Amino acid sequence: MTRSKPTFVLKFGGASLAGAKRLRGAAAIVRGRARHGPVVVVVSAMAGVTDALVDALAAAEQGLPAWREAVGGLKRRHRQALTALACQRRSGAAARALEERLRTLEVLLDTVERRRGCPPGLRARILASGERLSSVLLAAALGFSGHRAHVVDGSELIVTPEGAREGAVDTRRTRCNIRRRLAPVDSGDIPVVTGFVAGDGAGGATLLGRGGSDLSATIVGAALEARRVEIWTDVPGILSAPPRWVPEARTLPCLSRAEAEALARWGGKVLHPGALGPLAASATELVVASSLAPRAGRTAVRRSRPGAGPVAVSGRGGVVLRASGSGGRTVLDPGDGRPAGVMMDSGEGGSLVELPLAAVALIGGLGPAGARELVRSLRLPVLGIVPGLAPGATGLIVRERFLRRTVKHLHDALIAEPHTSRRLLEAVS
Ligand code: ASP
Ligand code: MG
Repeated sequence: MTRSKPTFVLKFGGASLAGAKRLRGAAAIVRGRARHGPVVVVVSAMAGVTDALVDALAAAEQGLPAWREAVGGLKRRHRQALTALACQRRSGAAARALEERLRTLEVLLDTVERRRGCPPGLRARILASGERLSSVLLAAALGFSGHRAHVVDGSELIVTPEGAREGAVDTRRTRCNIRRRLAPVDSGDIPVVTGFVAGDGAGGATLLGRGGSDLSATIVGAALEARRVEIWTDVPGILSAPPRWVPEARTLPCLSRAEAEALARWGGKVLHPGALGPLAASATELVVASSLAPRAGRTAVRRSRPGAGPVAVSGRGGVVLRASGSGGRTVLDPGDGRPAGVMMDSGEGGSLVELPLAAVALIGGLGPAGARELVRSLRLPVLGIVPGLAPGATGLIVRERFLRRTVKHLHDALIAEPHTSRRLLEAVS
């Protein structure tokens, strides 16, 4: 593709779209970026909307009228946001688009209530309604600030093969659609793409999985060979540990793709675990920042990062071990149940216990010998080490009740204080 200017794909998460003020903030970020090159916007639903739709759908399937109240709430929220955005100006086309979409949602849920059931295509359309509504609002916010913008439905761009697992994409057809529909993107008319939703290639809707609008953004970014995909969320970049466990966690300025993916799989809440996949073969950089505090910090995710050694600690519970042929134990990813890596006993009580287990993920890696030494010198309650928990991460298996404190302990020792951690790392590696 020949293009004079770099393309930017900007994805806004639910918190960045929750209300008129935040929508204006998002529009300001888009305007700023549009000065440097063509922009494609990808949106998630307003915060809490997809959860409300999941509940409404469950109620409708059981024939419970509670779904009508949920839709009432969604109507109020979206209408209020548009009224506040318009601020006395005429919002005719946007208001009509919003009403049409709200009406469609109502009709779809009514159908489910009458049928007492919901085929997958209908379910996808209902759950993706949040994105169909928020896209109208962000396009309107851009319009009110003097930019032309139009909504593009993700189901017309991203193709998921029939019967494939959630999130699997037909790359060839998807690229073709995106390039045809979105490039040239430099017409000045900004496309606002509904994230999360895809199509089956035959007119039906499918979903990319919860949190999947990150994936929508990287799919679009890869297809357009964008300079950058920016994920605008409510935290200032990717942090060195989950802030709910480690309040002193700090923003990581740079991470490799493998490390970012490992974090996303093992406890990180900022990115969809599959979001880095589409960028694997491309030069596109991914940036994470907060639209609530755009200058507070950001993380750049690149093919590789300068330096080596541990940069972050995370982890998650619900880990299952499966006996593997050679007497080893395979660790299953609690997210998708797929094998993540093989556990080596640490010699520190490595018996297989029938207890809730967790994996602590040391991001940035440390060889198995270093990890073993670390466990010993910090006296961590570790049952086994998983050298390749993910590319870019070493895993430490602990009882679930020790997860939090082991993450905190490791962050204190290895990351919070660079001076002492350097000495510790020299000693163990
Ligand atoms: N709105 C969808 C969800 O809540 C997709 C996304 O937010 O990325 O899962
Ligand atoms: Mg998300």
